[in-house]
Amino acid sequence: MIDSHAHLDFPDFDQDRLDVITRAHAAGVHTVINIATDFDSCQRVIALAESNPAMYAVVGVHPHDARHWEGDKSAEHLKRLAAHPKVVGIGEIGLDYFRNHSPRDQQKAAFIGQLAVARELNLPVVIHNRNAFEDIFALLLDQKAYEVGGVMHCFSEGVEEAQKTIDLGFHLSVNGIITFKDSRMATVGEKVRLDRVLLETDCPFLAPHPHRGQRNEPAYVAVVAQKLAELRRCSVDEISQATDANVERLFRLSAS
Ligand SMILES: [Zn+2]
Repeated sequence: MIDSHAHLDFPDFDQDRLDVITRAHAAGVHTVINIATDFDSCQRVIALAESNPAMYAVVGVHPHDARHWEGDKSAEHLKRLAAHPKVVGIGEIGLDYFRNHSPRDQQKAAFIGQLAVARELNLPVVIHNRNAFEDIFALLLDQKAYEVGGVMHCFSEGVEEAQKTIDLGFHLSVNGIITFKDSRMATVGEKVRLDRVLLETDCPFLAPHPHRGQRNEPAYVAVVAQKLAELRRCSVDEISQATDANVERLFRLSAS
C-alpha cells in the first residue's frame, strides 16, 4: 500500500529515518509521498525522493507559513522546485482557521497563488483544511482547481462535505483519526466511494489507535487500511489495491 501523505523530512525522524523506512517496507508500504510545509521542507522532501526510488515529493507552503509567501517571487520559486521529475503535486496548501498561525488574508493569498502554480504546471493539489471547508471549497471552485484535481488530506468533515468534495472532482484521504473512538470519519469511511479514497498517515502526527499519542510512521498506514476494511466489510487487499490505484492515477506515479 501507499502512504500518500508523510513528513519524513521532519526532525522527528532524524535519529532513525532509515529504520522507519525499513519498517514501512516490512509492513507492505511500497511507496511514500512526502509533503512539504515550507520552502526549506521542499528542498528536504526532494532530497528524500532523490535518494529513494520508493519516494515522491509534493512541494508547497502550508497555511501556517503563508505569512512568508511573497506573491510572484514565491510563485517563481515554487515553479522551479516543482520542475523536479520526482515532484508529483503542489501542497500542502489550504486554510487553517483553527491555529491561525498566519493571518487569514495571507493564507488566502498564498492558497490562491499556489493553486495558480498547480494549474500552470498541471499538477494535482494536496489540501490542508482546518475549520475552513466553506472558504476552501469556494476558492477551489473559483480558481478552477478541479481542472487539476487533488486530495483533501486528513479529511475530517461529514458525509455531506465528502460528497461535495467528490462531486467537485477531488479525492479525500483517510488517516489514523478513523481508528479513534467515536470518530465521525468511521461513517464517512464506510459510505464514501472507494475510487476517491487515499490512505495516509500524516506522520509524525496522528498515530492510529493503539499507537495514539506516539510518533506516527508510514508502517501504520496498514492500521488505517485494516480499519477501513472492517468498516466496509471487505478485505485489506481490496482496500490497498483500490487506494493504491487512486494514488497512482491522481499523482500519475507510473509516468513520473
Ligand atoms: Zn501533513
